Amino acid sequence: MIRDAWARPLGSLRVSVTDRCNLRCRYCMPEQEYVWLPRASILTFEEIARLVRIFASLGARKVRLTGGEPLLRHDLPVLTEMLAAIPDVHDLALTTNGVLLEKLAEPLRRAGLHRVTVSLDTLRPERMRELARTDRHADVLAGIAAAHRAGLTPLKLNSVVVRGTNDDELPALLAFARTHHAEVRFIEYMDVGGATGWSFDQVVSRQEMLDGIGRAYGEPDPLRNPDDPAAPAERFRLPDGTTFGIVASTTAPFCRSCDRSRLTADGTWLLCLYAASGVDLREPVRAGATDAELAELITTVWQGRRDRGAEERLRVAGRETLYPREALRADPHREMHTRGG
Ligand code: SAM
Ligand code: SF4
Ligand code: SF4
Repeated sequence: MIRDAWARPLGSLRVSVTDRCNLRCRYCMPEQEYVWLPRASILTFEEIARLVRIFASLGARKVRLTGGEPLLRHDLPVLTEMLAAIPDVHDLALTTNGVLLEKLAEPLRRAGLHRVTVSLDTLRPERMRELARTDRHADVLAGIAAAHRAGLTPLKLNSVVVRGTNDDELPALLAFARTHHAEVRFIEYMDVGGATGWSFDQVVSRQEMLDGIGRAYGEPDPLRNPDDPAAPAERFRLPDGTTFGIVASTTAPFCRSCDRSRLTADGTWLLCLYAASGVDLREPVRAGATDAELAELITTVWQGRRDRGAEERLRVAGRETLYPREALRADPHREMHTRGG
C-alpha cells in the first residue's frame, strides 16, 4: 500500500466513464452549453481496465464508476465485467442518476457490479423538472426498485440538499429510503467546479440537517464506521432504527482521512475533487509505457500528494464559486461532471 505526504493510503479510485449527462442538475450542470472532452481522447475499456488493475495493485481496492452519467457509456456491463475480474478490486460500485437503471441493473449485477448509489434529490416530479431539467422522475424510482431486485446492495441514495430547493424533504426522503431498502446520504452543497450558481447561503449545514431530522424523528445517534475510516459519510441511527449518512464536505470536511482520487474519461488523474489540474495518464498509456512504468509514475505522484481542497476552501474569506464560467470552458477537466462526484 502506498501513502501520500500526509500518510493517507491510496485506497479508492473513482472512474468517470463519460463526461456526458442526460440531466442538468442545477448544482452541477446549470449552464446551457458545455465544452466536451474530444471523442478520440476517451479511454477505451481496455485502457480503463489496465489502469484500474495497476491502481488496484497499489492499494485502490475500492472502485466506483461514475461520470457524467455512467449509464450513458455504451456497453457498460462489458467494462464492469472486465473490472470485476480484477482480483485486487474488492468493492465495485456505481453512482448513477438512475434514469437508465431499470433496464441495466440486472445486466450490471450479472457482470459483477456489487452495489449502486442512486442520486435522488426530491420525491416530487415537478421539483425534479426544475432542479434537473427532466421529466423522468418515475424512471429514477423504477431504477431504484430494479437495483434492489437485482441485489445491488447495500443500496444508497445521494441527496444534495440545497436551501430553498429541497431542504423541506429530508424527513420524506428518509421515509422513502426506509421503505425502499436503501440508506440515504444527505450531501452538503459543494462549491466544486461546475457549481456556478453556488453561494454559501444555499448550503444547509450538517448541523442544520441533524436538527431538522431530530425534530421530525427524534435525536439521531452517531454510528461508528470502524470498517471504513475513510468513508466520506458520517452515519447516524434514528430511534426507530433507520440509518442515514451526512456528507459534510462544505462545513466539516474530512480531507485528513481522504483515500480517494479520480480518473476522468480521458485518463486525467486528479488527486483531489478541488485540484486545479491532474496528471495525464492517457499519454504514457498510448505511448507504450509498461505496467511497471505506470505503477512507478502513480506511486511517485501519490507519495507527493498534499491536497486538502475542501479544508483549504474553509479558510477562504468571502467564499464564492470556485471557478468562473470562462475558466470551466477553458478546461472542462475542472467540471464536476467531468471528474465525477
Ligand atoms: N451522474 C451521476 C449521478 O448524479 O449520480 C454520477 C456523477 S455525479 C457528478 C456524482 C455525485 O455528485 C451525485 O450524487 C451528485 O449529486 C453529486 N454532486 C454534483 N454536484 C454537486 C455539488 N455541487 N455539491 C454536492 N454534490 C454534488
Ligand atoms: Fe446531475 Fe450527475 Fe448529471 Fe451532474 S453528472 S448533472 S449530478 S446527473
Ligand atoms: Fe479528498 Fe480533496 Fe475531497 Fe479533501 S477535498 S476529501 S482531499 S478529494
